[in-house]
Amino acid sequence: MDKKTGFNTRAIHSGEKVFERAVTQPIFQTSTYIFEGEAQYLDVKYGRLNNTPNHQALQEKIADLEKTEDALVTASGMAAITTALLGAIQSGGHLLAQDNLYGGTYYFLKEDFPYWGREVSLFPTEDSSSVEKYLRKNTKAIYVETISNPLLKIPDLEKIVAVAHKHGALAIIDNTFASPYNFNPADLGFDIVLHSATKYLNGHTDVLAGVVAGRKERLADIRKLVCHLGPTLDPHACFLLNRGIKTLGLRVREHNSSALELAHFLRGLKRVERVYYPGLEDHPDHARAKRFLRGFGGMVSFDYKGSPDELELAMSRLRIPFIAPSLGGVESLITRPSTTSHSGISPDERTRLGIKDALVRLSVGLEDISDLKDDFREAFDA
Ligand code: PLP
Repeated sequence: MDKKTGFNTRAIHSGEKVFERAVTQPIFQTSTYIFEGEAQYLDVKYGRLNNTPNHQALQEKIADLEKTEDALVTASGMAAITTALLGAIQSGGHLLAQDNLYGGTYYFLKEDFPYWGREVSLFPTEDSSSVEKYLRKNTKAIYVETISNPLLKIPDLEKIVAVAHKHGALAIIDNTFASPYNFNPADLGFDIVLHSATKYLNGHTDVLAGVVAGRKERLADIRKLVCHLGPTLDPHACFLLNRGIKTLGLRVREHNSSALELAHFLRGLKRVERVYYPGLEDHPDHARAKRFLRGFGGMVSFDYKGSPDELELAMSRLRIPFIAPSLGGVESLITRPSTTSHSGISPDERTRLGIKDALVRLSVGLEDISDLKDDFREAFDA
């Protein structure tokens, strides 16, 4: 669709084709398609090859929203991250990644990546403006998250791209927390944009999915790997994700505004020690957030004033947010990263990263903000 068209119009109409005069694209619940003389393996129409009408509509829509030439959907965010990294970096190559990462990505890089013959090292996220000094001769890519999990730090994104390209390496980014409504990494020159589409893109906590987006030629090797390893998104999940994306703009606009209001509100509660939200003026990366992002997102973290046991008690008093990992859905979710997403990182390493045992991560949902405030006041102001 014309790039000048508004975000919501593109989220609704991009990639859609009309079948049998149906306004909504049907689910093509078939694993294979009748052969029509295709000569290339990847042209054969077959579910695992990610080329069915449900895949095509979704991939075209996501590429349009992320302003990339091409996009590929996968069976989970981790399938997107692992295949993208293995496809982009050959054996013997080195990946330089920020140290504040989603736990699953962190484990993969620490535990599995070397097994596949790739090297990895981490740089402190706070030091992203001096990332050059961490490069190695064989660095093939630099990897960051737009807004880091769980402390919501924002690296110097322009610098990351400039340094990577000067060195002949790729700039790779996980844009899950921002979503394409708040930020398009391709605008700054990022080569590969990744998502856990399980979160904001789908937005309804009922699908696991991932995205790899970038230039066509860049995605070719990753697409081949996804077709060979097989983490394909099934047609029904494609349909649900496509449906979720149609309201992405409306949802994220509301997440942005509720999270900002709640972040300010939480600061005034007796049992809240410190609030981390890039939209707050005292957040260390607030200036960067204002420069790079169109909205600050729906994630808020805070340190509890008290012991982890007292914190568990306070969390159990909440009536609205579910205590659960994950994020980006219509319902608010609250979790202690030290017991969920970052539990596999040693306590010493967590301390070094600033992830305290009494740190809370909140995915602010779309419930009425007045109800959320009442709920947090009752649980955290005693
Ligand atoms: N990236 C980020 C920032 C995440 O928070 C997550 C999951 O929580 C993932 C990637 C992995 O996504 P998935 O659970 O869909 O595999």
